[in-house]
Amino acid sequence: MSAENKDSKWGDLLAEAKRERAQREKSYREMALKLFPHVCGRCGREFSGKRLSELTVHHKDHNHDRNPPDGSNWELLCIYCHDNEHQRDEVAQAYGQEEARQEQKPTSTFKAFAGLADLLKDKN
Ligand SMILES: [Zn+2]
Ligand SMILES: [Zn+2]
Repeated sequence: MSAENKDSKWGDLLAEAKRERAQREKSYREMALKLFPHVCGRCGREFSGKRLSELTVHHKDHNHDRNPPDGSNWELLCIYCHDNEHQRDEVAQAYGQEEARQEQKPTSTFKAFAGLADLLKDKN
């Protein structure tokens, strides 16, 4: 495997994925903030003004591509509770997804990128 080549390619892919994701996130976050009170669904803290940026949109089914406009797949969580929520599910989820992927598409590139995308999803 030539790491150098891969890295620059990854860089491009990542930059593009990040741009797209940022745009998508901005739009559904705005919608979610209009729909729901600005309160964390776990700890119940309220966020306003500058601190509103600490409130994030969690996808109940963990599928960031499913954004029904009625907000049924969204939950507002503060960054701390959001982290917890994902840590709790990470092991079981990663295991399940890994199995599913191996059945569908056995190429290592696909798996690596999908894993990377998962890692990026909720970190910002
Ligand atoms: Zn919270
Ligand atoms: Zn989430």
